[in-house]
Amino acid sequence: MAVSRIEKLFPGVPDNPYVQQLARGFGRLQFMPELERQYLDFIGLAAVRQRRIAIVLALLVWHLFVALDAQRIGALENFQQYPQDLQCLLGLRWGVAGVLYLGGLLVLFRRMQKFILPVTPWLILLCGVATGVINMLYTRAGFSASYDGVILLTIAVFFPLGMTLYSSLWAGLGIVFVSLLIGNWLLHGEALGQFNLSMFYCFLAVIVSASGAYLREYSQREQFLTRHLLHWMAERDGLTGLYNRRSFDQRLPQLLSQARRARAGVALLLVDVDHFKPFNDHYGHQAGDQALQQVARLLQGFARRPLDMAVRLGGEEFALVLYGESAEGPQQVAEQVRLAIEQLGITHSASPSGSVLTASLGLALSGPAESLDHLYHQADQALYRAKHAGRNRVEHG
Ligand code: GH3
Ligand code: MG
Ligand code: MG
Repeated sequence: MAVSRIEKLFPGVPDNPYVQQLARGFGRLQFMPELERQYLDFIGLAAVRQRRIAIVLALLVWHLFVALDAQRIGALENFQQYPQDLQCLLGLRWGVAGVLYLGGLLVLFRRMQKFILPVTPWLILLCGVATGVINMLYTRAGFSASYDGVILLTIAVFFPLGMTLYSSLWAGLGIVFVSLLIGNWLLHGEALGQFNLSMFYCFLAVIVSASGAYLREYSQREQFLTRHLLHWMAERDGLTGLYNRRSFDQRLPQLLSQARRARAGVALLLVDVDHFKPFNDHYGHQAGDQALQQVARLLQGFARRPLDMAVRLGGEEFALVLYGESAEGPQQVAEQVRLAIEQLGITHSASPSGSVLTASLGLALSGPAESLDHLYHQADQALYRAKHAGRNRVEHG
């Protein structure tokens, strides 16, 4: 992705997946894989209530049709003439009711949502085709029947039930084409002509509803990106894109209690750039900013695991939070960080203690009942010692 385009669209916003996707566009309603997963989880869970309402409505309507069947078939004089078709019809009606009840049961439980989402299009496809077939059987039994119910279901496929446009589209087209196949097998003559015409209207209904659903999904995706971007920006530092002090203060106590429960260790590494004031004075504020960005990128590279955090605490002070045990101990990582900053090789001719930009580091390891204040204080003391011992070194708290 051309960085300049992101810069133009979102001046001053550090690079992140949300601006990348906004700049790249999503006309085909598809994000980058990681964001796409996030988005599907998001709409899937957001539509839990809609799916509950939809299944209750579907059951109500279906039972209305059951009542209608009872009334129509009960009034039939030539009942004996078409027993098999009518038996099929009733079997289908109750079979689908059973499947709907099963769906209703799944929708009740929040933990089942991941499971219900992929079956939702199949459920609607089943209802649509069954409605079509039931009306074909009515036609064969000599009743007047219409396929308006199938049209309604091809429209309902596009309701915001947490499905993407593509899965709604295949369910809608599935209803039309599977019904067409069955209809052309079961019906003949004038009844078939009327049925085919209805399916043509169903097809048009799918196309019209899909166009509306496209626009809706597009703006829903846009909203998803901008909302997440805002959240991302609130947690990050504007210059470097690292976590800011606010998220450090918010997240670290949670992380410490999680570590206590899991009996895992947390290492806090405070990193303060050495003689940064003279660097700024000598090379200018902009060069100072660029140096901070380089140091930040480097620290971000050391926050490798999901719960690790690289933070800009303010000015030229950073923190690296390492959660749990790793192959290398925190002392080794701290030394690697120090060396890596030195090896960036950012010339600092105004430094009283060397020719390149360096940093001093204070390390503290959390004990079993550690509070954030205590841990921070220990790391800060260690940092103070590192500064006084000559800078460009790591001290342990
Ligand atoms: P020490 O080795 O003792 O840490 O010395 P120092 O000069 O790094 O520390 P001091 O706290 O005296 O100065 C920090 C400087 O960092 C002051 C300010 O010019 C600079 N600074 C703080 N925030 C920013 C920033 O966002 N951008 C730039 N370019 N400079 C900053
Ligand atoms: Mg400093
Ligand atoms: Mg400082």
